Amino acid sequence: MSRQTKAIIDLDAIAHNYQLAQKWAKASENIAVIKANAYGHGAREVAIKLEPLVKAFAVAIFEEAVELRSAGILKPILILQGINSVDEVVYAAENNCWLMVHQPAQIDILSDPRLTNLPATIKLWLKVDTGMHRLGFNPENVASTLVQLSSLALINKELVLCSHFSHASDIQHNKNRRQLKRFDDLFSELKKNKKLTDFKLIRSMANSPAIAALPASHYEWNRPGIMLYGVGLFDIPHVTDRDLKPAMHFISSIIALRKIKPGQSVGYGGKWVAQRATLIATVAVGYADGYPRQVDNNSEVFVRGRRAPVVGTVSMDMITVDVTDITDVSTGDVVELWGKNIMANVVAQQASTIGYHLLTSVSARVPREYVQSSLEKTQ
Ligand SMILES: *Cc1c(COP(=O)(O)O)cnc(C)c1O
Repeated sequence: MSRQTKAIIDLDAIAHNYQLAQKWAKASENIAVIKANAYGHGAREVAIKLEPLVKAFAVAIFEEAVELRSAGILKPILILQGINSVDEVVYAAENNCWLMVHQPAQIDILSDPRLTNLPATIKLWLKVDTGMHRLGFNPENVASTLVQLSSLALINKELVLCSHFSHASDIQHNKNRRQLKRFDDLFSELKKNKKLTDFKLIRSMANSPAIAALPASHYEWNRPGIMLYGVGLFDIPHVTDRDLKPAMHFISSIIALRKIKPGQSVGYGGKWVAQRATLIATVAVGYADGYPRQVDNNSEVFVRGRRAPVVGTVSMDMITVDVTDITDVSTGDVVELWGKNIMANVVAQQASTIGYHLLTSVSARVPREYVQSSLEKTQ
C-alpha cells in the first residue's frame, strides 16, 4: 500500500480569502504575504494563482524573493527583513523588489558609493517600532532617518511607513490602540516637517486580524498573511472564521487496525491506557511530517464522517487513533488531520501553539497536491 499522506492545497480557497481581504478593507491595497513557502502551502503555486489578483507580494527574506523571480513571478515583491549587502540592493533594483528598512546598518548599505546607475529607483518601506520591540526605528528617530534617505538618489520618493501589531490576535487589547496612536502621531508630525516635503509618505499597519476587525488600522497598504490560508484569526472563535476557507487539507490513511483489551497501553511510554475494549487505528503521519507531538492525548482526527481521538504519543511516522465508535472503519480509509472538518488552529491550541506554526511545519516529506476547484469532503 503506498503512503497516502499529503497536503491538498485548494488554490481557489486562497483566491477567495484574498478577495475577503479586499472586501473587509475596501479603501486599502493588499500585499499578499507568502513568506515561509506561503505558510507551508507552496510559494510558487500560490504566487502563480494570486499574481493576476494582487498588486504585490511580501516575503521575509531575500532568498524567497529570488525563488519567486525564478518561478516567473513579475509583480513587486516586498522583502520584509530587507537587505544585508550591496549586491542585494542591485538585485532589488534590477528585479522590482521593494525593501523594508528597519535599522541604520541598512541605510549604510543603501548609501554605498558603488550603488550608481541602477536601472530603477528602489521603493522603501520604513519600519517603525510602535511597541512590538522587534524591528524598526524608534518614532523619535524617523524624521532624521528620512532626511538621511532624502539625500540618496536611488530611493523612490513614495515611501511607506510601516509598523506591526504585537497583539493583533487579541483585537480588543489596549496595546493595539496605543500602537496605532503612536503611528498616527508620528505620521502627523512628519507631515508638518518642512525638510520632508520631498517624500510622498503613505502607511501600512494591518495584518490579517487587523484587516478583519480593526478598521482604524486600514491605511494605503494592508498585509494579509494567515487569512489567505483560511485559518481562524483570533485567540477565540470569531464571526470571520465562517467566511474564511481553509486552504490546506492535510490527510493521511489508516495503515493498520488492532483490538486491544482494557488495561493495555498504546505507544511509546504507554501514556494512554484503554479503559474498554478498543479498536486502534494506526495512521501514517507523525511529527516528522508536521503533526505536532505536543497534542498529548487531546486532539482529534476526522474519519468516515466522524471525529475520533488521537491516543498515545505521536511517533515520528505514525499516530494512533481510537476508532472504536466508528462503524465500518478499514485500512486504507482517509483520515483528515486538519482542513474543513478539523480546524488547524484547534489542533494548534491542543498542542499549545498557533495555526501559523502548524502550517509552516508540514514537512518536505509531505507532497503538496494542488486543486483549483472547491474541495469535496473526502468522506
Ligand atoms: C508575517 C507578517 C505579516 C502577515 O501577518 P499575518 O498575521 O499572517 O496576517 C504582516 N506583516 C509583517 C511585517 C509580517 O512579518
